[in-house]
Amino acid sequence: MPHQPRKRFGQHFLHDPGVVEQIIRAIAPQAADAVVEIGPGLSALTEPLLDRLDHLTVIEIDRDLAHRLRMAWPDDRLTVIADDALNVDVGALGSGLRIVGNLPYNVSTPLLFHLQPYADQIADQHFILQREVIERMTAQPATPHYSRLSVMLQARYQMDWLFDVDPQAFDPPPGVMSAVVRMVPLPDSRVRPRSEQAFAQVVTRAFSQRRKMLRRVLSDWTNLIDWQALEAAPTARPQELSVKQFIALSDQLVDQGILD
Ligand code: SAM
Repeated sequence: MPHQPRKRFGQHFLHDPGVVEQIIRAIAPQAADAVVEIGPGLSALTEPLLDRLDHLTVIEIDRDLAHRLRMAWPDDRLTVIADDALNVDVGALGSGLRIVGNLPYNVSTPLLFHLQPYADQIADQHFILQREVIERMTAQPATPHYSRLSVMLQARYQMDWLFDVDPQAFDPPPGVMSAVVRMVPLPDSRVRPRSEQAFAQVVTRAFSQRRKMLRRVLSDWTNLIDWQALEAAPTARPQELSVKQFIALSDQLVDQGILD
């Protein structure tokens, strides 16, 4: 029986073979790779991945689709986890993981944050996302799309916007343009915040009022900050600070015992 796309699961199925091939070429799967696909749906990417891989793990929230997948491939080729990817302990799936997915747009940002703590176990991530989300992920300081998402993800990943995907490549077509992004976790030698929690808190607070001056947004912290060491003016706007400056700012507050 044909599957009726379910809106609540953000189901827009890829049906353009040219786009599928372009994505598979970008991923360049090798037989022994430990690949995890989030949201396999009707197998548009699953099938060409399985053509190249010894084994694939998929996470699918829609139980009907998960059942179809279990029927289509033996367990030793395909492991199907029928669950919400937001509930899955990706760390238990191994290391050197390569994550791929045409992500449901309604949960794409929570999923990106869900995967972040597992970055040490991940080799790379390739996602088809709403283009507007990739614009924010890859935006540079002092540009319109630079946001909390840009800072939080750029602190952990090298990200490359690979190419755009037209709505007509999907059935049903979404109302927005999509694009493909590659995310590679940065090495241990990266500049890291002393406290991930404090860093997240500072970035969230700074971008809660992105048009205001930092000294106003950070109010009670303003006089405690060594602005010179930060190489920033208290009158700057949050979107003018680089990722490194946000890390330095949160480190200053941690060193003074303001945040932990
Ligand atoms: N990969 C397929 C393709 O390219 O045609 C399907 C893409 S469709 C945009 C998103 C898929 O993710 C659907 O199969 C949907 O059921 C599944 N999905 C939605 N939310 C999910 C979640 N939280 N966890 C796991 N899968 C989810």
